Amino acid sequence: MTWQERYGSALMNTFGTPALTLMRGEGARVWDADGRAYLDLVGGIAVNSLGHAHPAIVRAVSEQVATLGHVSNLFTSEPQIQLAERLDGLLGHGSKVFFSNSGAEANEAAFKLTRLTGRTHVVAAEGSFHGRTMGALALTSKQAYRTPFEPLPGHVTWVPYGDVEALAAAVTDETAAVVLEPVQGEAGVLVPPTDYLTEARRITKERGALLWLDEVQTGIGRTGEWFAHQSVPGLVPDVVTLAKGLGGGVPIGATLATGAAAELFAPGSHGTTFGGNPMACAAALAVLDTIEADGLLEQVTRVGKRLREELSDLPEVTAVRGPGLMVGVDLASLDAPAVVAAGRAEGFLLNATGPGTLRFVPPLILTEDDVSELVGAWPAIVGRAAESGGAA
Ligand SMILES: *Cc1c(COP(=O)(O)O)cnc(C)c1O
Repeated sequence: MTWQERYGSALMNTFGTPALTLMRGEGARVWDADGRAYLDLVGGIAVNSLGHAHPAIVRAVSEQVATLGHVSNLFTSEPQIQLAERLDGLLGHGSKVFFSNSGAEANEAAFKLTRLTGRTHVVAAEGSFHGRTMGALALTSKQAYRTPFEPLPGHVTWVPYGDVEALAAAVTDETAAVVLEPVQGEAGVLVPPTDYLTEARRITKERGALLWLDEVQTGIGRTGEWFAHQSVPGLVPDVVTLAKGLGGGVPIGATLATGAAAELFAPGSHGTTFGGNPMACAAALAVLDTIEADGLLEQVTRVGKRLREELSDLPEVTAVRGPGLMVGVDLASLDAPAVVAAGRAEGFLLNATGPGTLRFVPPLILTEDDVSELVGAWPAIVGRAAESGGAA
């Protein structure tokens, strides 16, 4: 039996048949079971911030697991405390953190935290993605994800993303929180109008509601800032959720809160067995140290700009958007999944967020040479996609 066949008989069919069985990775490259190499422009869906097998993560995790791998939350450990302090240093405003293991879990913790305001109403945006567990799903807009699992918890009002007036009309004196992605990722990299987050902050403050920013995808350097919302001067959210890029491939989630929101949880309010374990925290510390030491925020800004400029000039590309290395591309007539398949055949891992949209969320270590490689191969990729009958 092939790996694919064995996968099909042993794993639940939640993802369809995976396109490749990957064997190893190094930097922004991975190799499949047949030894073929790919330039990875997906990065484990915005997770492999330092690429694959980065020596800093290898060292940090190896040393930590050989010293103290797990202790439960009956105890603490140095990496846990160091990471908490480090994240507060990056976010500022005397934030405190609750550690978990994924984006959905970080959002579950935040959702529970909003209930402790004494209010239950939450405002979320159309097109949002916050995860697949019941609470996170209650705040995720896609009907196909929601319908089979209803009733979902929560009293949620939906507003069009980026629409200040709709937000102002939806938030009342009984609203616990407004939850927003600073840039919507799964929706196809949608960037809101420049004043949107500032206005969301003003509206939530006026009504006594929390502003909760889901930075699970946009956080930790993805947009060229530590947090995407830091591109808005002076913006202080009440809650920020993180996961994807934080552990560089080691599962970790984090729910940060500032001000009074940081004091809402009390002993017994919430918990986790694995969350904040020393191994995951050591990995995250290695990610933060490397981003800083290697000047990756600056590199993300520079290479991201180059990627957007180059993509804009390519055939079949009708729109390019997004900050840093979080880039959405709309296609003229080709079916995005057909382009993803053609990319694979040409040695590139690509990702489609919809029938006509590609999303690039590569490792933050991506270089200009990597961009040139993609640009050089683009005509062959779209040619192959067109031949495959990949017209929408
Ligand atoms: C991926 C994602 C999540 C869910 O994270 P998981 O680790 O898959 O549970 C939540 N919010 C946003 C914005 C995401 O991109």
